Amino acid sequence: MNYEREFRVSPGSRVRLKKLDPQQTDKDEDKHSASRKVARLQKRIDELQFQLFAEDKRSLLICLQALDAGGKDGVIRHVIGSMNPQGCRVASFKQPSAEELAHDFLWRVEQETPRRGEVVIFNRSHYEDVIVVRVRDLVPKSLWSQRYEQINAFEHRLVTSGTHILKFFLHISKEEQLKRFKDRLDDKSRWWKISEADYSDREYWNDYASAYEDVLSKCSTAHAPWYVIPSDHKWFRNLAISQIIADKLEALRIQVPKPTVDIAEIRKKYHAAKKDGR
Ligand code: AMP
Ligand code: MG
Repeated sequence: MNYEREFRVSPGSRVRLKKLDPQQTDKDEDKHSASRKVARLQKRIDELQFQLFAEDKRSLLICLQALDAGGKDGVIRHVIGSMNPQGCRVASFKQPSAEELAHDFLWRVEQETPRRGEVVIFNRSHYEDVIVVRVRDLVPKSLWSQRYEQINAFEHRLVTSGTHILKFFLHISKEEQLKRFKDRLDDKSRWWKISEADYSDREYWNDYASAYEDVLSKCSTAHAPWYVIPSDHKWFRNLAISQIIADKLEALRIQVPKPTVDIAEIRKKYHAAKKDGR
């Protein structure tokens, strides 16, 4: 299965999340085959990411969005954890500070965009400003409704200056979310993750779904596509995302800089066996 093609939202198409099955997997794969593949893909991503860093010309921005317990942390750990920390960074966007709220919504995001050669993962992103903000009525509709275009313009600007963008929505079912909340309750080491807001947000499930449908329909562009990843099965989610990221990096045809010295000359001058032991 070509995950890139299967899960990419075509620009201008109307997404209906109810029609996309969060439990979907690939009939040719299972947990074991996927884990072997993910290990191989991680290695490839690691190599390519370090070449991107060496090339120092372009960058990659990966946006992760999901409802609570959707698996953003898992993706960061499994897929992105394989990259070299030199040239790779995660930026998490939580509730905005007073300072951030005193600025335009893109202000805090601008500061975290990748520099040349870098891979940056957004754990939540500027999309919260048309999702939670809309669902929880944090700013008037007259303001948030303009943001889709502002976001598209912002991303287009990044792309024209050499940043490649991939955006993943981790699609889980309401039942799977509750199951994961329960798993957290049963695991003391993860109690810190539990908040009552996560439960109360479940009452807004349909509002979140509509807000996401608008994001996916309005902001999946040729230059910055959205992918809806079926995420009830963690193994499949990790496989699909690793494959899409590896293919993207591969397609960049990264050119590692040519040596600035004459390698043969250096070899001869400093590494040829010296009889006198110098
Ligand atoms: P978590 O990712 O679970 O640690 O929680 C971060 C929280 O910050 C989530 O509940 C988000 O909805 C919230 N958040 C992120 N960005 C914004 C924003 N722009 N406005 C309001 N809340 C936000
Ligand atoms: Mg939360």
